[in-house]
Amino acid sequence: MNAWEQNIRQVEPYVPGEQPQLSEMIKLNTNENPYPPAPKVKEAMEQMKIGDMRLYPDAKCTTLVEALAEYYELDKDQVFVGVGSDDVLATAFLTFFNSKKPILFPDITYAFYDVWAELYRIPYERPKLDASFRIRKEDYYKENGGVVIANPNAPTSICEGLEFIEDILVHNQDVIVIVDEAYIDFGGTSARPLLEKYDNLLITQTFSKSRSMAGVRIGYCMGSKRLIQAMNDVKYSINSYTMNQWALQVGVEAIKDEAYFKQRIQQIIETREETAAELRKMGFELPDSSANFLFVTHKSVDCTKLFEYLREKHIFVRHWNKERIKNHLRVTIGTKEEMKRFLEETKKFIEA
Ligand SMILES: *Cc1c(COP(=O)(O)O)cnc(C)c1O
Repeated sequence: MNAWEQNIRQVEPYVPGEQPQLSEMIKLNTNENPYPPAPKVKEAMEQMKIGDMRLYPDAKCTTLVEALAEYYELDKDQVFVGVGSDDVLATAFLTFFNSKKPILFPDITYAFYDVWAELYRIPYERPKLDASFRIRKEDYYKENGGVVIANPNAPTSICEGLEFIEDILVHNQDVIVIVDEAYIDFGGTSARPLLEKYDNLLITQTFSKSRSMAGVRIGYCMGSKRLIQAMNDVKYSINSYTMNQWALQVGVEAIKDEAYFKQRIQQIIETREETAAELRKMGFELPDSSANFLFVTHKSVDCTKLFEYLREKHIFVRHWNKERIKNHLRVTIGTKEEMKRFLEETKKFIEA
């Protein structure tokens, strides 16, 4: 072994869901939105000029920050944007979790949290979700270096209410509490009203799911001015120009089209409820979802085999070979036609 090997940072990276390159497939494995982004986004794309490429983008991301601040009725100093909420969350971990005490997040949640904790050498503990995959708020009452809660949680799809989040804040006034609201637009209750009362609350959201823009990479967070300032200090110490100017432009346009946004969300919620009802008829068990995916299991069906069967049919869903959720699948809500095909194939598998 070369001596320099010992200086290489060892990390076990996050494994994203696969992006198969097939022309015909039903892709229900990474919680992408099946519908196109707002028409105004397309118009903005068509007006982009190649000549602008020579210039650096606006490091402060002013137009997008201001558009988001206006939309959520916040001060512009309360908003931070990044290259997807993964970038925003990574920056938040690096900025806020510097205690020797462990940060806390559930054993079953977004699998990136422990990767960042390992990367930044942040000690962490993962209190277990209860038997029905709910977060036990009492587990977050003990001394800690910070708290991260995905709400709705992934991959469980369960959303806790405002009182639940406030209870966690009440018990954690000396640390930063991050609430990851990647799926909040699909029917959950946002913690935003709590921002006025708790200056240690940071809420992250994304354009990737509800706004159909996973490929553009836009995420953001909202918090007190002090928190946003601290994150900007870290951002400007790594890379000032995180957001490219086209992402800034299309991001602003996406926020303007509220009617389109609401209509698409409604469609996805409807399809979600129909799909959930059909799956329950087949004997699948699943919690009520507040997200754009379902977390399903079945007492007498081997879900790993179902996953493989669907894969052969070019229907991609998500499966983890992990403790407690080995016989679960996470199924993204696609179009009505896509879900119909998914249900047909699932039925065929069960009845075979
Ligand atoms: C998808 C997801 C994210 C990150 O999405 P970006 O595309 O980076 O914005 C963050 N948290 C959770 C829980 C997610 O599911």
